[in-house]
Amino acid sequence: MAFNSQDFDRKLAQWLKGRNGSDALARALCYLALILIIVDLVFHWMWPIWLSLVLLVLAWWRVMSKNVQARRQENDRFKQLIGSTASAWIESPVSMMTESRNYRHSRCPSCSQQIRVPRGKGTIRVTCPRCREKFTMKS
Ligand SMILES: [Zn+2]
Repeated sequence: MAFNSQDFDRKLAQWLKGRNGSDALARALCYLALILIIVDLVFHWMWPIWLSLVLLVLAWWRVMSKNVQARRQENDRFKQLIGSTASAWIESPVSMMTESRNYRHSRCPSCSQQIRVPRGKGTIRVTCPRCREKFTMKS
């Protein structure tokens, strides 16, 4: 019997329909599992491997879960807990890496608005877009 890839794609799409899919919490569980595996490789303890297996099973269960609404609520609560910056890192690490390599982030000293300037321009004068406060920062 020949393998029909189109048929396989259709079946996979059907199987994934109505399931939660990958989200920030599932990704965080996978990263944590990866760290535990590395710890295990370095220290040769037994428990990190088992814990990482548990985390991977949990992550898989989240991706496969059909109770999308409950999973979304958990994910929102998790993102609230870790903050918007950490969530952004977990959800798109590559784009955050490029972002932090190209821009320096700081806060306005008077209203603490987040300011972003391109890196490598020396010390520059910045005008806060929110309160018009002028200050200098290293880029
Ligand atoms: Zn300001």
